[in-house]
Amino acid sequence: MASRAAAETTSGRAPKSVKDHSIGTFPAPLVLPHDELNYDPDSEPQSTKGWLSEECRNKLSSAPRRNKLYVVQVPGIGFKADFMRHWVVPSGYDAVKVEGKAGLSPPSADHFVDYLTAFYHDMPVRLFPTPLTWTSWGSNTKSAMGCRSATLPKYIGLSHGDQCTRIRVRPAPDKAFPVQLNLDDILDTAISILPDDAYAMVLLVDHDIYESDDDDFCCGRAYGGSRVAVVQAARYNPILDEREGEKIDRSHMWPWSHCKTFVDDLCAVEDVKAKAAAKKQKELSKSGAMKAAIQAAATYKPTSAVQEVQALWFSRLARTVSHELGHCFALDHCVYYACNMQGTGSMREDVRQPPYLCPVCEAKVAHAIAGEMKSGREEEKTEWIKQRCEALRHFCERLGEKDMDSSMWHGLDGWLQERMIAL
Ligand SMILES: [Zn+2]
Ligand SMILES: [Zn+2]
Repeated sequence: MASRAAAETTSGRAPKSVKDHSIGTFPAPLVLPHDELNYDPDSEPQSTKGWLSEECRNKLSSAPRRNKLYVVQVPGIGFKADFMRHWVVPSGYDAVKVEGKAGLSPPSADHFVDYLTAFYHDMPVRLFPTPLTWTSWGSNTKSAMGCRSATLPKYIGLSHGDQCTRIRVRPAPDKAFPVQLNLDDILDTAISILPDDAYAMVLLVDHDIYESDDDDFCCGRAYGGSRVAVVQAARYNPILDEREGEKIDRSHMWPWSHCKTFVDDLCAVEDVKAKAAAKKQKELSKSGAMKAAIQAAATYKPTSAVQEVQALWFSRLARTVSHELGHCFALDHCVYYACNMQGTGSMREDVRQPPYLCPVCEAKVAHAIAGEMKSGREEEKTEWIKQRCEALRHFCERLGEKDMDSSMWHGLDGWLQERMIAL
């Protein structure tokens, strides 16, 4: 407990009066079979002090030259690359059925701007002014018309103004989508268009992406030192939740992921003996922000089946977008608590993680924004944390008006309400 408290301070020493983060508010990370922390239990934790001296960290400064966050909306599809349209449709679903029946389309970039404005409170967040466009690369337009791998183009082009970057293309190894695009090539484009006044930028893509020859796919990645991140929408499409072997249990996404019976059942399958909940744990689970989150999440009533899926899609992407931008603030994967900055090894693990930052990760972002950018001292950082909670609550409430609320946002709103009382 004391070492986690020390991880929150810039000095690395535990404060004289240790703040009591109730486990009812900040539970420990879930470590279930196949989860990321299971594979890498010795990964070095990054304390706030360690983060401060991270070499690749870009410091925010009070000069407004370089303090904006940019969101680049998904590239449009130029007429020469029209064949790319069906690459975003999961295999086995035809485009007409998906669009017609479910009415699904990836969430608009404006929602991410709104969300990040609250999540990175006080940072100016802007939509990237000039959209990118997919186009053909070289003379492969003709052969690219088909979608079978035999006729798949090797490359496509991603253009911005008069620049065009070559993007590698391959068939998806697990066949969830007809085609995947290379992440590193897209990151190169992002680096080449980074505005001078950007602190960081996230580029959204509709298509499935991959990073290396031996991965199946990659959901998103940040090059923190270079200030850029790329996040794909395709793999978060809730249509994929029913896939054989990848099935997502929608009744146990956050906040329900912390339900003890669910955790025990998963461990039982893997022959891990579950510990009986300690008396103190049981006591605490009757109150606190997690309890409030679970109660609030249950109040969500989708207005239609399409609304539910559309909002679910946005909530998953939003969590990833803020997570990847967290890496641009030089935040490492979090091992201290259940946290939005936890690493994740699968989509099933992803949906179990919370949308909030734990006290350690929050302390880092508070130092960057309220401390470095706004030249604030400790009191100002504490005040900023409160204001940030309020901004996120307003965001959650506004989502209802836009018909974009989901159980996760209801849960977060309930969690924040309790947290603010504690603050
Ligand atoms: Zn990460
Ligand atoms: Zn954390």
